[in-house]
Amino acid sequence: MTSNILIYIEINDSKIETVSKEIISKIRSSFNDIKLCGAVIADENTISNVQEELSKLPLDCVYIINDNIFDEFQVCLYSKALYDLIKEVKPDIFLMGATPDGRELAPRTASKLEIGLTADCTGLDIDNDGKLLATRPTYGGKLMATITSKTKPGFATIRPHSFKMMNVPNGNPMIEYKSYDISGIACLTEILNCFQKTVSEDWSCAEIIISGGLGLKTKENFQRIYKLADLINAKPAASRAAVELGWAPASIQVGQTGKSVSPKLYIAFGISGAMQHLVGISSSDKIIAVNTDRNAPIMKACDIAIVADAQNVLESLISNLS
Ligand SMILES: Cc1cc2nc3c(=O)[nH]c(=O)nc-3n(C[C@H](O)[C@H](O)[C@H](O)COP(=O)(O)OP(=O)(O)OC[C@H]3O[C@@H](n4cnc5c(N)ncnc54)[C@H](O)[C@@H]3O)c2cc1C
Repeated sequence: MTSNILIYIEINDSKIETVSKEIISKIRSSFNDIKLCGAVIADENTISNVQEELSKLPLDCVYIINDNIFDEFQVCLYSKALYDLIKEVKPDIFLMGATPDGRELAPRTASKLEIGLTADCTGLDIDNDGKLLATRPTYGGKLMATITSKTKPGFATIRPHSFKMMNVPNGNPMIEYKSYDISGIACLTEILNCFQKTVSEDWSCAEIIISGGLGLKTKENFQRIYKLADLINAKPAASRAAVELGWAPASIQVGQTGKSVSPKLYIAFGISGAMQHLVGISSSDKIIAVNTDRNAPIMKACDIAIVADAQNVLESLISNLS
């Protein structure tokens, strides 16, 4: 059965958010019997900056809700725009990225529409009836739950880097401009000023990630993760247990409560591979694990398992590469 899918295409600083493109490429490359459209909300200047990119997305159509009132993200305005659009186009499935804006926008939109929302998903599928099956960790990450909704559209937010960018040919979507009815909106917040926050480099897109866990035993030993990463131009990362002990900052934690990553190569030194960690690395192309316990969960989840002392392997790699 054909499923009508609508994806909210988030734009920040005149750029389409990577997660929006990841969702589009995942859906386009995985499912055939679908109509796939995008929804954009932005001011005129932003639209003209992304117009060319929008016109090549592998979509069947793009709905543009375009008004200078949208020059800054305001959840009351954006959720009303999405509410109106969804009421009109009646998709079977509606998806958006679990970005900071998406996490604010999705529940407001769901509540206006009186529909369910599966938040922060890491996997998705469509059943034979065209309904969304959204997968996310539950019970503190001990289980992966696949959730389907009794309400329509099936609505989910998707964690950035949960899906690999697939090589999907460009499309030529029909662009449709939608008018925006501002009447009846009472925004309780007024934006007085916006401050640019300098964010640290987005290492979650790194090609090689060198990650350490409790098997490294001490904070001093953990420093070798940084050293090796530096030598091969990789990014350092850590398990939550290593972060909790103060061996690494929370900003480089990988996993359910950290970042999801999709590097070409993820090397885990002394990490057991708890479900909450694995959920953040499942989109990696290749995983190498170094662990003294051949039965550790990560040894089954990886492509190359090295049963060895993590510090010895780190040390010999560092001395050979220095
Ligand atoms: C709600 C919730 C959210 C969570 N979110 C996250 C998250 O985002 N990210 C995350 O990582 N965890 C998360 N956790 C924690 C997770 O359950 C694990 O506790 C954590 O991942 C374990 O970290 P670890 O693998 O470094 O340590 P351990 O589980 O203690 O594993 C250490 C590993 O090192 C091996 N080892 C020991 N000595 C050596 C040696 N000399 N050389 C090589 N290997 C050795 C051991 O065999 C073992 O496999 C979460 C937990 C909960 C409840």
